[in-house]
Amino acid sequence: MALDQATIDQLAASPVGPGKLLIDGESLDGAGGTSAVLSPIDGRQLTTLASASPADVARACASARAAFEDGRWSRMAPAGRKAVLHRLADLIDKHAAELAVLGVRDNGTEISMALKAEPGSAAGTFRYYAEAIDKVYGEVAPTPSNVLALVHREPVGVVGAIVPWNFPLMIGSWKIAPALAMGNSVVLKPAETASLSLLRLAGLALEAGIPPGVFNVVTGPGRVTGEALALSPDVDVLVFTGSGATGRRLLQYSAQSNLKRCYLELGGKSPNVVFADAPDLCAAAKAAANAIFRNAGQVCVAGSRLLVEASIHDAFVAELAEATRKMTVGNPLQFETQVGAVNSLVQLEGNLGFVADATREGGKIVTGGKRALEETGGWYMEPTIVTGVRPEHRLFREEVFGPVLAVTSFSDEAEALRLANASDFGLAAGVWTANLSRAHRMIRGIRAGVVHVNTYGGVDVTVPLAGTKQSGNGADKSLHALEKYTDLKTAWIQL
Ligand code: NAD
Repeated sequence: MALDQATIDQLAASPVGPGKLLIDGESLDGAGGTSAVLSPIDGRQLTTLASASPADVARACASARAAFEDGRWSRMAPAGRKAVLHRLADLIDKHAAELAVLGVRDNGTEISMALKAEPGSAAGTFRYYAEAIDKVYGEVAPTPSNVLALVHREPVGVVGAIVPWNFPLMIGSWKIAPALAMGNSVVLKPAETASLSLLRLAGLALEAGIPPGVFNVVTGPGRVTGEALALSPDVDVLVFTGSGATGRRLLQYSAQSNLKRCYLELGGKSPNVVFADAPDLCAAAKAAANAIFRNAGQVCVAGSRLLVEASIHDAFVAELAEATRKMTVGNPLQFETQVGAVNSLVQLEGNLGFVADATREGGKIVTGGKRALEETGGWYMEPTIVTGVRPEHRLFREEVFGPVLAVTSFSDEAEALRLANASDFGLAAGVWTANLSRAHRMIRGIRAGVVHVNTYGGVDVTVPLAGTKQSGNGADKSLHALEKYTDLKTAWIQL
């Protein structure tokens, strides 16, 4: 889609209506009142967002349950569900610019990235799972010949989905599309600071023909609306992307309620390991900058720990710092912007706190370290590189989720592997080397859901994204994700 700046500017000038709940096909106010939605671009109020009370959430879940039980979607012929999801993908494409601009005004991602990563990826995800609907078969088990055992895959029922603010449409679609494809009903809880594009998506879903009640959206604070959803006895499976702290709470809510299954996609502190024999150190430096600074570091798989072989450390850091200083920080609605806004003031203050702690602990700031463009009223931060970070430092251990890169040097492959794995997280990693055997040894040795080699951050709906260790469990994307949204049922027939 070729879009010019004038079109983006025009879309960005339009007023944004209040964000309301979507329950049983109706757009409703929440009993919990409203909150102001502030744009990270300039700190000004964009609109208001409804807060769903626990009673609103219960209604949304009851509506999803009723829709599931009466079969309006769950028992629709596969070809029918497939046609509807394809129509939804087409509608996302048709409204891509509008969806992307709305999302950027709400969450601050650079428009150049948002167009691809948000509506672009969402449409592709709905198409992928639409196609899976009539291609996933049950099984006949190899039992003794006097028995016929059939293994059916059935929808689980009501899926509760709670998602974060960094890529709402992309991450939301990774959950909504496979859940709907398998015949489930969904109650979605977007993040408070990135609900608007998902509410628009839900409107498009109705237009595409998803029956009322099958896809409901409840907005509001995590500790009220999200908690009510996670505690609901009507939710059979809870799928979540967000922080480890919230993930822990969700497991407790499950234990306190109906033992619903919980799938958690959590944070990361991903190592990006550069060996002296990398094929192109200049390309590696540019990629290392993009791996942490795009979307102002608000990327779950961000390469936030750079591990560099000691023999090239100083030269590599110099190259990296130069590439970083060339990155344009600014209004995310401008096509030339490479580092957009930080999602909230709280997040910005947290990022700056990490930098302060890093210097106190002995790290050295090579570039960045400060708030940027304060005169705009928006929340921006200079891309920041800190060297001399050691495993015991906070910056090595904790996820910032902001544009702050921790750099640590290593002396040999064994130390590189040790440092790469010296983390509670296990989401992603990068390895830069021309040595094929070393690349494979590192792929085997690093505990992470994805290990990139001589690149960083490839995304495709065909491959799973699955955290290990405290980065979560279960996979988003690919056909593996369908396991989360289906139950196995065996039919054992005596012949
Ligand atoms: P968060 O955990 O604060 O919030 C995520 C969602 O949970 C929001 O919708 C929020 O309202 C809700 N929530 C908060 N408290 C809740 C509670 N007590 N009960 C129920 N719901 C609650 O995370 P965030 O700040 O929005 O997102 C950033 C985090 O997400 C980072 O850690 C990042 O790494 C992670 N993330 C992971 C992936 C992945 O695929 N692994 C992808 C993107 C982001």
